[in-house]
Amino acid sequence: MRTRTAAMLAACVVALLCARTGAQAPTITEVVSQVSQTVYTDYLNNQLYTRTGDNRGNGAEHDLARTNIFNSFVSYGLQTSLSPFVYNSTTYYNVIGILPGATLPNEYVIVGAHYDSVNNPGADDNASGVAGVMSAARAMSQYTWDRTLIFAAFDREEQGLKGSAAWANAHASWDIKGMVSLDMIAYNPAGATHNTALIYGRATSDPLKNALSSAVNTYGGIACTLMGQLDASDHAPFEWNGFQAALLIEGAVWSNPNYHKSTDSVDTPGYIDYTYATSMTKGTVGWMADVAGLNGRRGPDPVPEFGSLAGMTLGSGFTFVIALRRFRTGTRRGL
Ligand SMILES: [Zn+2]
Repeated sequence: MRTRTAAMLAACVVALLCARTGAQAPTITEVVSQVSQTVYTDYLNNQLYTRTGDNRGNGAEHDLARTNIFNSFVSYGLQTSLSPFVYNSTTYYNVIGILPGATLPNEYVIVGAHYDSVNNPGADDNASGVAGVMSAARAMSQYTWDRTLIFAAFDREEQGLKGSAAWANAHASWDIKGMVSLDMIAYNPAGATHNTALIYGRATSDPLKNALSSAVNTYGGIACTLMGQLDASDHAPFEWNGFQAALLIEGAVWSNPNYHKSTDSVDTPGYIDYTYATSMTKGTVGWMADVAGLNGRRGPDPVPEFGSLAGMTLGSGFTFVIALRRFRTGTRRGL
């Protein structure tokens, strides 16, 4: 009996040592793989009020969607706030989620999307981009980064970039290393045979545009065409303040038949391409990860394959203690 207990204890020690010493450093490919089409679809269909009849402009669904975005950021452990601004004597709110950097916390990388609509369901314009930002937050919050990540859902874009301009102007002194606006990333009518995207921005943003294009191709399998200045989305106020920024948008945007119509809804048959939108999001996460600098995992290391048992070393009692503590508490690193 005693011998058997000792054997079981030894097996546990070996398993825990293996879990600790066998863990590999995370890669950007691993981070990108955390972007899930199932989760993206849930955000777009069930959390952002994109059904026929919904209204995220001045309708009741506007605030309901904002609350869901806020709660998702909180659930991923981000420093989450409603950032107010006044437009036409009314106070509106951007939803801001921050993941502080581990080594360069005063350098920022931003992904944003506007959650307001033109008094319609705004499934593609622009719940598609917001679902991308929420998906990026979910994937990237599982890791630590050198630079600080900011996930932003802006309001009143349709009235002239009001929310993003307010936020960008208020943070013009920050060291912003890059900003990408996701705006209309889910309409892809020709399917995989026309799997393209457009990237807009000033010539001064060319380094960012090239890096984003490369990442969207590498991690999303989508070919991008680089375009010029277009001050029609939330990247523009960041360019006005001297930062590199760009708009990533679906290749078929200029022929979208439901643009700013009540039929911009997930209920419109054959309209939303969830696979394409997820790929656009993966590419954006790859870009953001490149710029932010992958530092480590935020939660416990994943248990490795048993094949790595052969390469295991049994040198350190401390390793066991650390592994056991992590195993017991399952703690996430606090913010
Ligand atoms: Zn619009």
